[in-house]
Amino acid sequence: MDSFKSRLRTLLDAVLGTDKHLRIRTSQAALASILMLACMALLYGLAAFGVADLGHVAVWSVFCTAGLLVFFYLIRSGISLRWQDPSLAFAQMLYAIACNAVAFVLAGHGRGVSLPLLAVILMFGIFGMSMRQVAAVAVYALVLFGLAIAYVLEYPSTDEQPVLYGAYLFMVLIVLSGTTFMNWRLGQIRDHMRSQKNQLTLALEKIQLIATRDELTSAVNRRHMLELLRLELQRSERTGAPLLIAVLDIDHFKRINDSYGHQAGDRALQAFVAVAQAGIRSTDTLARWGGEEFLVLLSDATMELGQVCLSRVRSQVAEMAVVYAGAEIRMTVSIGVTQHRPGEAIEKTIERADQAVYAAKAQGRDQIVTA
Ligand code: GH3
Ligand code: MG
Ligand code: MG
Repeated sequence: MDSFKSRLRTLLDAVLGTDKHLRIRTSQAALASILMLACMALLYGLAAFGVADLGHVAVWSVFCTAGLLVFFYLIRSGISLRWQDPSLAFAQMLYAIACNAVAFVLAGHGRGVSLPLLAVILMFGIFGMSMRQVAAVAVYALVLFGLAIAYVLEYPSTDEQPVLYGAYLFMVLIVLSGTTFMNWRLGQIRDHMRSQKNQLTLALEKIQLIATRDELTSAVNRRHMLELLRLELQRSERTGAPLLIAVLDIDHFKRINDSYGHQAGDRALQAFVAVAQAGIRSTDTLARWGGEEFLVLLSDATMELGQVCLSRVRSQVAEMAVVYAGAEIRMTVSIGVTQHRPGEAIEKTIERADQAVYAAKAQGRDQIVTA
């Protein structure tokens, strides 16, 4: 059973190709061919019962098969890639409608069967077609079936009453209007779904931003930082790369709020994040841990390297002046940094960095203390 399946898969791969897009095109052409083969079988059946002429059906079916093979070859070989629609859906449909109109002439008393077939062909085709193409197909089908009906009226092979041909033409009109309407509705639904998808993508991006970033400063938020820390810890334990954790606490921040107002404080926090972000490496992560307290994760960093980065942050914060409502706000930052010890819980590392910040505060602020 399994060997049958795998052989079938190998066969299908060989016939239809393995490239994803090619496979869709060849599968569609193969499906259309199967439908056409079923129609041929039907006409041969009618010929076998004397309803249709066997010779005519044979010539017709040779033409149909040749057309199918040409389409399949053009698609499978990649030649069709040179054209605007490599699936050749539009051309295949025009060809199928032409074959169907000829079948209408040849099927004698059984010609009624070609009308539901016309509906099936159109249903297959309308999915990817523009409104203009659908209109063109409708006119084309109407002309072809009009000609087919004129032909059988001129050279009658059966004793059907002419009123029946009027009914056939009416049926063709119904089929064409039905499929044109369906194409229009499908287009509407497609547009609606496209716009919904765009809205969803935007909403998802927004949710991701809200879930991972602090609203005021856009620094990584505490929750996301805990995730990143967990991942980085696993990586560091696997590779043995050193990992530093630094806690940064702005000095006397309360005074900034008290002197310039809360909004000025907010501006200062934003400016602080911009400077700190620029001071650390792009592979390091800065997170807002609480009010005016931040955490920096320095991955793959020795204490010497960490000191260089953090000193840069400390001095640039001290040099920066935030202008708000005409006032020049200045601030400094105290930093505690520590190396994560193998096997240690991350909370323990953070606690040590926290104690180092307290020490930095106690020693006069605007400095880095290593734990
Ligand atoms: P220290 O040097 O000891 O750290 O003093 P400090 O004033 O910075 O520390 P404290 O913890 O006493 O005060 C922190 C202040 O930060 C109090 C709080 O109102 C302010 N703060 C916290 N979050 C925000 C915020 O989002 N915006 C503003 N404007 N202020 C905030
Ligand atoms: Mg503070
Ligand atoms: Mg604080």
